[in-house]
Amino acid sequence: MNESPAMRFIALSALRTLYQVCTVAYGIGLLLLGFWSRFLSHQSQVIVLGYHSVGNTRLHISMPVADFDRQMRWLQRRSTPVLTIEQLINFITLRHPLSQDSVLVTFDDGFRDNLTQALPILRRCNLAAVFFVPTFHVGDYYTWDGNRGSRQHRILSWDDVRSLAAQGQQIGSHGVTHARFSDISPRDVEWELRESAAAIEGRLGQRPTGIAYPYGDMGEAEKTANSAKRLGYQVGFTVVPRPLLGGQPTFEIPRYMVDRFSGRDPFTTFVLYLTCLFGTFRWYESLGTAAKRSAHYLFAVVDDAGGRN
Ligand SMILES: [Zn+2]
Repeated sequence: MNESPAMRFIALSALRTLYQVCTVAYGIGLLLLGFWSRFLSHQSQVIVLGYHSVGNTRLHISMPVADFDRQMRWLQRRSTPVLTIEQLINFITLRHPLSQDSVLVTFDDGFRDNLTQALPILRRCNLAAVFFVPTFHVGDYYTWDGNRGSRQHRILSWDDVRSLAAQGQQIGSHGVTHARFSDISPRDVEWELRESAAAIEGRLGQRPTGIAYPYGDMGEAEKTANSAKRLGYQVGFTVVPRPLLGGQPTFEIPRYMVDRFSGRDPFTTFVLYLTCLFGTFRWYESLGTAAKRSAHYLFAVVDDAGGRN
């Protein structure tokens, strides 16, 4: 009797069974993670969502209108509380408890389509958002990020910004020039913070309480936070993707940038963000991919060894 084919058959069958057991265990684990993060986590949290452009453009930071509409309707249908910036501040600093997990909707860069495309959807769903504008670029075009001289994507004018504010939306600072704070000195960071607040106050008659750091980059975090506080800001937003809990540092507010999908389906990604699964899910997904690769490698080795006999 030739032992090799029999041994190979047994080894492959054992591996296959193990693989199937692991796949089932992985699926059950995924369900349990979802259950844990939805039902067993007692503390309410806020998911801060970050958008840029909303439009059917080819811009990599554009959320298609239909997708944005679907996402806002999802929030409305589930009666998810959508906070104002003041409510968010009270939640972090005064630890005002929230009745349930809540959301803050934000937009960076002040694309004009925020007024023409996003606002009608927000109004239809009765939602308010915060629009962070880089004040030097107001009334101009999206000319940073290697788009110097481009006249393709318009930025809100001051009339547009006033119109947003008049319709119950909130306006925050996104700096003056959209410079990355790590690339400039703390003095220049302070200038960006001061001048953008002054420009907004001059045009709207109201000082902004929030700043979204361009690229989510605080530069020297402590100095930036101190300058911002001194200049009357109360909150600063990064792009660190995790939920916000009460009592966290007010100038390092985490935010999920919804328009950066890395190849995922926009709606699935959105729901994952909002069910607070994303961080855990991403980690779990990588674990699954690594395990699958190892299993395939093992199959190939056993098969190859058998083939050589
Ligand atoms: Zn920006």
